[in-house]
Amino acid sequence: MSYTLKQLLDEGTAFLENKGIMDYKTDAWYLLSDICHVRRVDYLIDPHMPVDALDAERYMDCIRRRGDGCPLQYITGTQEFMGIPFKVNEHVLIPRLDTEILVDTVLKYLPEEARVLDMCTGSGCILLSIMASKKTALGHGVDVSPKALKVAMENERQLRETAQYEYLSTGGPAVKWMCGDLFENLTDTYDVIVSNPPYIPSGQISGLMAEVRAHEPYLALDGKEDGLFFYRRIIAQAADFLSDNGMIFFEIGWDQAEAVSELLESAGFHQIQVRKDLAGLDRVVFASIN
Ligand code: GLN
Repeated sequence: MSYTLKQLLDEGTAFLENKGIMDYKTDAWYLLSDICHVRRVDYLIDPHMPVDALDAERYMDCIRRRGDGCPLQYITGTQEFMGIPFKVNEHVLIPRLDTEILVDTVLKYLPEEARVLDMCTGSGCILLSIMASKKTALGHGVDVSPKALKVAMENERQLRETAQYEYLSTGGPAVKWMCGDLFENLTDTYDVIVSNPPYIPSGQISGLMAEVRAHEPYLALDGKEDGLFFYRRIIAQAADFLSDNGMIFFEIGWDQAEAVSELLESAGFHQIQVRKDLAGLDRVVFASIN
């Protein structure tokens, strides 16, 4: 059967509403716009435009995936972060708006030509958005998952092809992506270490929203018993990998500021500061080594 844009959108919308998807109208629209390459204005001018049969089939496949709870971003394969479109798939965490506070904090303190390490880089969104806004001398991204690093590399390639990011597209330093368990394969020193490590206590993962729990990588969420496993390990080794004026920046869960600040203090860090997110919750902890 052949469909018009409107018929297809109505069918997708009704399907998602039936499945109890909260933003069923916007999600059905985004998928239509993505698959049929229509902008809102095209739709409004001619909602009765016929849709290619193959596109209609692909649309309903995507609608069914969304109906089963797969996050929209894994279906469209993209999420914007710091104004940059990043590729995502089920091997990486979907970049969060809250994490922009972390990047914004780093950018406030980052000297020109800094050497930056992004620990647990995932999609590479943190490191790449830093490098897209500020001239860096070197960028290293580490992750334990080779599949995540493949996504990060793809994001680097995509960003370099976008002329808007002049520095990166005209020969800024290549990012070195390294697979490993935290610092195990590192030998350089850095001016900044930034990390949004997995920080959900294992026992709380089953209580997360189904979309997160069942679709985002467990590895990217699980902060082990008390959620602080990776902060402890990163902080224990960070001083060996920081330059004399080095700084460290972490994203944290809303109730972890005190614990992470104490870990930093015990490891000899100074000027420990906490920054809140837009919801007024503690979100970033950062400190200097000297
Ligand atoms: N650094 C990535 C992000 O912030 C991945 C974080 C993670 O996997 N815990 O999106």
